[in-house]
Amino acid sequence: MDHFLYKDGELHAEDVPLREIAASVGTPFYCYSTATLERHFRLFDEALEGTEHLVCYAMKAASNLAILKVLAAAGAGMDVVSGGEYARAKAAGVSGDKIVFSGVGKTREEMRLALTGGIRQFNVESEPEMQRLNEVALELGVKAPITVRVNPDVDAKTHAKIATGKKENKFGIPISRAREVYAVAARLQGLDVVGIDVHIGSQLTDLEPFRQAYEKVKELTLALRADGHTIKRLDLGGGLGIPYQRSNDAPPLPTDYGAVVKDVLGDLGCEIEIEPGRLIAGNAGVLVSEVVYVKEGEDRKFLILDAAMNDLIRPAMYEAYHDIVPLMEPPVGQVPEPYDVVGPVCESGDTFAKGRNMPRMNEGELVAFRSAGAYGAVMSSEYNSRPMIPEVLVKGDQFAVIRPRPSLEDMLKRDSIPQWL
Ligand SMILES: *Cc1c(COP(=O)(O)O)cnc(C)c1O
Repeated sequence: MDHFLYKDGELHAEDVPLREIAASVGTPFYCYSTATLERHFRLFDEALEGTEHLVCYAMKAASNLAILKVLAAAGAGMDVVSGGEYARAKAAGVSGDKIVFSGVGKTREEMRLALTGGIRQFNVESEPEMQRLNEVALELGVKAPITVRVNPDVDAKTHAKIATGKKENKFGIPISRAREVYAVAARLQGLDVVGIDVHIGSQLTDLEPFRQAYEKVKELTLALRADGHTIKRLDLGGGLGIPYQRSNDAPPLPTDYGAVVKDVLGDLGCEIEIEPGRLIAGNAGVLVSEVVYVKEGEDRKFLILDAAMNDLIRPAMYEAYHDIVPLMEPPVGQVPEPYDVVGPVCESGDTFAKGRNMPRMNEGELVAFRSAGAYGAVMSSEYNSRPMIPEVLVKGDQFAVIRPRPSLEDMLKRDSIPQWL
């Protein structure tokens, strides 16, 4: 459930009409709902009630400092995948002991940054990374708390680009080799083994792959304990999917997910960490755009928007579906018409939807892409020299710009000309 609803005939973010924000900041823009972010965090937190746990928001989904502050205030830890994200977490006021560091390519510099600034654990993804982290920790005279990310070789049944738990994926170490790798880790003086990590993919709409992966983690926990390791924490990753297509999707809820976690792992006496990203931010954000032209093609109608693939790349990159709705509620009984919804970028890939049934649209009308809060703004670029679009946060009847739109001049100023030109 989110807080983007039609009231008095127009789409609101909480108590603010999106049309008012558009009039103030211009289009296109991203808009997030504080109440939705808080609600989604709480759903996970409550789903794990009764077991010691920490919900670490996977901030790669949406990492604006204001969003992080909302979640940190609600009690969230953070899952970061780069030094930049680590710096964001700290800047949002999250203490190091609530930050976990994931990712397959952590550099020395990133390790140093986290070891000096404080870190709950590194989720180590390979043996060379383990050796490197050990060296950096010894240089600094500290011990790096680690889990090893295991790859359980289960099929997450999601889009190939966001599946991470099959043996052909670059992530983690094969679970079959885990005992060997933990034995090496235990001998490295700069490391402190605290648990196991697993993350099998994103936008999972079935709980079965989670259950399979967690069963394997349970088996491994028992085996590693028998080998003499201390396994006190299990990081179970993120990945729970959201309903992008309201008319027919109904993915499992965080409570259902929590029930699987407790059912499989509840009796191990481990602290549970989870790393949801998409489910917290996805339906907490919309992208608002204006119809620039309605163009009649030979056999189809194009709705040409002022938003493009550089602002929201998910449809081009993952064939992703987003509901696209007019800000003004269409009259009941109006017969929808099919549109190809496209942006102005010079690529045919810049297509948001083909043959999408929508109410009759006209130039100058505003539309909202629903479920655009996760992997939206964070994946945007300035391709075609289109300045980054603003982000806005709503709380009740207030709104604030949390990332301004740069002027064309600001954008050009970031380039510099060598002295020989
Ligand atoms: C991307 C990612 C997440 C978050 O996945 P969602 O599908 O957004 O919940 C969690 N953990 C790791 C290691 C990730 O790479």
